[in-house]
Amino acid sequence: MSPSLVWFRLDLRLDDNPALRAARQRGGPVVPVFVWAPHEEGAWAPGSASRWWLHQSLHALGEQLRRVGSRLVLRVGDTLPMLQALAKETGAGAVFWNRRYEPAVVARDAAIEATLRSAGLTAQGHNANLLFEPSEVRNKQGRPFQVFTPFWNHCRALPPPPTPLRAPPGLPVPGAWPPSAPLGELELEPAIDWAAGMREEWSPGSVGARERLARFLAGRIGRYAEGRDMPGREGSSSLSPHLHFGEISPRTIWHRTCRKEGVAELPQGAEVFLKELVWREFAHHLLSHFPDTTDAPLRTEFAAFPWRRDAHALRAWQRGRTGYPLVDAGMRQLWSIGWMHNRVRMVVASFLVKHLLLPWHDGARWFWDTLVDADLANNTFNWQWVAGCGADAAPYFRIFNPVSQGERFDAEGDYVRRWVPELARLPAPWAHKPWEAEDDVLAAAGVRLGETYPYPIVDHASARTRALEALATIARSGEGPG
Ligand code: FAD
Repeated sequence: MSPSLVWFRLDLRLDDNPALRAARQRGGPVVPVFVWAPHEEGAWAPGSASRWWLHQSLHALGEQLRRVGSRLVLRVGDTLPMLQALAKETGAGAVFWNRRYEPAVVARDAAIEATLRSAGLTAQGHNANLLFEPSEVRNKQGRPFQVFTPFWNHCRALPPPPTPLRAPPGLPVPGAWPPSAPLGELELEPAIDWAAGMREEWSPGSVGARERLARFLAGRIGRYAEGRDMPGREGSSSLSPHLHFGEISPRTIWHRTCRKEGVAELPQGAEVFLKELVWREFAHHLLSHFPDTTDAPLRTEFAAFPWRRDAHALRAWQRGRTGYPLVDAGMRQLWSIGWMHNRVRMVVASFLVKHLLLPWHDGARWFWDTLVDADLANNTFNWQWVAGCGADAAPYFRIFNPVSQGERFDAEGDYVRRWVPELARLPAPWAHKPWEAEDDVLAAAGVRLGETYPYPIVDHASARTRALEALATIARSGEGPG
């Protein structure tokens, strides 16, 4: 049998990899390939933090392949000619891959599939990265879901997702390996090394992913229902970048979670955790069915929203210098480790679009460049949710108060103290509102407002009124998609 190319993309693992299984079942040698072609991803080519992660993850995948006697062949350039050249060099008769759902990638993949097939090759995409294929999930009217709860109830009533596939113990190799570009040629790592915080925090690759899942299931999951909302504690799984790069499959997470509990009815923590995985599914479902939402609001009346332009305010937000400690802590956590706690993501996003009235697109772009888990489906869906212009969006009048959110979810101020060192010595009652502290308290904590730490760039009450007025123009102007 002629060799098969396995074209790796966001599925950087050997276990539960249906494309890899298809190649093995076909028989013949297997040639694992990764093609770096960011220009084919349209306006949403991977950002800087994602590139850093990808470099580490490709290295890890290469090592894993070596352990099963194989290699990862890297190429840089347009994907189709690269795959055609590799097929020619190796005599491959088939190309297998796992599907992605970003609009530009979907269009590119369809064109590649058609061209390869017309040249007589077997060309086949598989589902590795979602529990349920978006095209197969429909509501009773046969239409895509736009509200989460019915989507969740529908998914929960489906048969469980297929059991994950095992990693192959070995892979048949070609007679001669085609040449590979060195990993450095992809130029994924930053020229100036700003990644120290990320290196310390993360272990990219499927081994790191499995270890993180095991640690989570062994402890945190029991308290997940409450713990996931506390940014000062390690309450959630931190699996998002591993999931984005496909270093671990959602099916593996699903089945390990259910098996660990081993009971018909899951405890609350496990059930809430599975629900979060299904939020990820929902975001992909929406991106698949409403591909324009990466740039345009799903609720079209929001296209006329009176966003402001304010470069100074945007920069203050990006740098974590808004004067609101919870917002600033979140933005600095993001800058340092490429990740931010979900509760704080909601607060900083709400602050940008509601307190500052800056376009959600500006926030989505900044997240895109700085998150290690930047994911077009999740990022788009969540930004539109916070802005109130997406599916099942937060009610337009919900404006997170960064002070009360901080007092509720970071009552001792631990999260703020960790990420905003200039407030590290401020006692808990003022950690989220330093401007209310007496002068002697500030002096004792070494805080000089306006010098060591900024005054709030907007007053909460007046920003709230301004946002409600702007949002009311939209609320009056039309109905949502239902
Ligand atoms: P856990 O609580 O352990 O949840 C497990 C998994 O469920 C996560 O890894 C993630 O894959 C999924 N999940 C959890 N919450 C959500 C959610 N709200 N939407 C979709 N999937 C979810 N997540 C990304 O993966 N990439 C993004 O680019 C992204 N951008 C976001 C932007 C904004 C404005 C907001 C409010 C949220 C965003 N999220 C994004 C969702 C969420 O914040 C992260 O998935 C979560 O914080 C990751 O941490 P975790 O792995 O510990 O999550």
